[in-house]
Amino acid sequence: MRRFSFLLVLMLVAVQSWAAGRDTYTVIISLDGLRWDYLDTYDVPFMDIMARQGVKAVMQPSFPSKTFPNHYTLATGLTPDHHGIIANIFWDREKGVEYSLKDKVTRADGSYYGGDPIWLTAKHQGVKTATVFWVGSDVTINDEHPTYWLDYQTESEKMGFEGRIDEIIRLLSLPEEERPHLVMGYFEEPDRSGHNYGPLNSMTRRAVENLDRLLSKLWSRIQLLPFADKVNLIVTGDHGMASVDPKRFVDIDDVLPKRWYDRCCNDYPTLIYASAPQYIDSIYNALQGVDHIRAWKKGEVPDYLGYGTNKNMGDVIVLPDVGWLFADKPSKKQRGSHGFDHTAADMQVGFRAVGPDFKVGYEKQDRFRNVCIYPLLCHLLGVSPSPNDGSLDEVADLLR
Ligand code: AMP
Ligand code: ZN
Ligand code: ZN
Repeated sequence: MRRFSFLLVLMLVAVQSWAAGRDTYTVIISLDGLRWDYLDTYDVPFMDIMARQGVKAVMQPSFPSKTFPNHYTLATGLTPDHHGIIANIFWDREKGVEYSLKDKVTRADGSYYGGDPIWLTAKHQGVKTATVFWVGSDVTINDEHPTYWLDYQTESEKMGFEGRIDEIIRLLSLPEEERPHLVMGYFEEPDRSGHNYGPLNSMTRRAVENLDRLLSKLWSRIQLLPFADKVNLIVTGDHGMASVDPKRFVDIDDVLPKRWYDRCCNDYPTLIYASAPQYIDSIYNALQGVDHIRAWKKGEVPDYLGYGTNKNMGDVIVLPDVGWLFADKPSKKQRGSHGFDHTAADMQVGFRAVGPDFKVGYEKQDRFRNVCIYPLLCHLLGVSPSPNDGSLDEVADLLR
């Protein structure tokens, strides 16, 4: 009996250490708006090295292909419809407030952030976690934060991009018992350049190439750590970027009278909150047959978008075709945008990963859904995932 128990313990330890990468470290970097083909068309020698020494893939964002919804999907493995950050801007009818990424009060209200972000999943299972800016990590969610975190609003500009690399290295250089096994880092580029100049402009190229040099420095500095062979590096993003033009524009005011709606949150998709129930049909009917947009009532959104059931959803959801704008005034300055159909080619995201847990020189043929990042991180950290919309199986081929 004692021998049997001993064997059982040995087996349990073996299974645990197989399932867990507890002695490995994972650094995941999100480059905002990293359209998948930037990494094929721009000059990115470091990301090419990552592909040769690690894995290369294309990742599909969740709908809507926006920053806050998708960063929080990467963190929780839940679609925006399920985690609650259904758009960068939405109306909370119950409370009578507008949630917005630009508003420091609502953005910081943890009650909007559902699910169990990886920094808490891991922390609750004894794994230290750190964020060098990540949507949601500077919000108090279930009374908690990552072990180490920073406030985006007050710290991000001051720290700059080089400073974020220093900070990641500082965190990885902490004494072993204080050292985080997961470090998540965020950079606003190439999203900013993509919006200002368009995805195919030389300024966006320059932003991507600068980031490649920055990440190369990060990897070189990681190589100087005594445990360098235990560090995984994942580089990906939240969504792609499509070219837009103020001429490709559908004017809301031409199709909908203002009295039909209380709110129109217009950051793609457009969420329209009717001013009275009878106007839901009026709005919906008025939008049918308008060129270059699609409109649905909540609850009737096509299944593949995985959207429309959240309690804060607009009564009518309007989605312009890729490259088209639906607004009350076109932005004259914007040359790039996103938020479009998450399955469109321009919305896909680049993905590279290198390190002890990843295959060498492997290119994944099918794109995978970004809800799978959460189960992947759980696997790399050796922690049990909370319920999520992803699947480790979908990304298991990336692993050794
Ligand atoms: P968008 O392109 O409209 O989807 O949003 C991108 C913007 O989100 C970036 O320019 C960032 O400045 C902003 N952003 C990213 N992370 C945060 C954060 N944690 N808090 C506030 N704003 C953020
Ligand atoms: Zn973004
Ligand atoms: Zn953007």
